Amino acid sequence: RLEIKNLRRVYAGRAVVDDVSLQIMPGQVTCLLGPSGCGKSTTLRMIAGVEMQDSGTIHVDGKLICDTVFRVPPERREIGLMFQDFALFPHLSVAENVAFGLKSGSKAERRARVEALLDRVELRRFIDGYPHQLSGGEQQRVALARALAPQPRIMLMDEPFSGLDNRLRDGIRDETLSILKEEDTAVLLVTHEPDEAMRMADEIALMRDGKIVQQGAPYNVYTRPIDRAAVAFFSDAN
Ligand code: ATP
Ligand code: MG
Repeated sequence: RLEIKNLRRVYAGRAVVDDVSLQIMPGQVTCLLGPSGCGKSTTLRMIAGVEMQDSGTIHVDGKLICDTVFRVPPERREIGLMFQDFALFPHLSVAENVAFGLKSGSKAERRARVEALLDRVELRRFIDGYPHQLSGGEQQRVALARALAPQPRIMLMDEPFSGLDNRLRDGIRDETLSILKEEDTAVLLVTHEPDEAMRMADEIALMRDGKIVQQGAPYNVYTRPIDRAAVAFFSDAN
């Protein structure tokens, strides 16, 4: 369970993330949806721990991860990340890439986990291949397997499907969702595309100018936009 409270980040006197609060339960996908520059990635970076908030708190499963004085380092937050520029390590094999975040278990156990994950994304045959031998979509599936390998309780995804062509995207989205649901992961997905939010989210948080202006089930947010700007956002994007 991820809980962020009153998160705020100021650049040059402007609050780019302004009093953002969210709670995400295990097995639930919450989508942070909003136009370019509204503060989505900054919010994610603070949760990941690669950027420090000016105020507000972050809790994972009830434990404080970060406030303005106390701070768990990113690598100990048990938070999985999948970003648009998901770059695999070019000098590592597919198996080594997927195993990268695996720290516990014997060598055989880690290998079994890597094989199971690669089966899941249908890339087992590439297990000893290298990233440059894979297509973009295949690389993205490896990146997904790598992000899932350590079984993070929380997964943060920043436009993870944006580099893919439409046909491929649907398949990878569905597969990603089913794995995350099966593992009961709490997911925060960032996108500027209403379609993607409608397709993937259990809950949409609509963001504008650093603030969450509306939050609810996708159908409700889409059919009952809170104001004219929200109407414009949904229609422009189509
Ligand atoms: P996009 O959909 O284009 O990725 P976003 O919602 O992810 O947009 P952010 O990257 O969070 O937006 O940026 C929010 C605002 O903060 C933008 O106006 C951006 O210019 C500004 N910003 C982000 N990082 C910095 C920084 N390091 N220094 C100054 N301003 C920044
Ligand atoms: Mg962004």
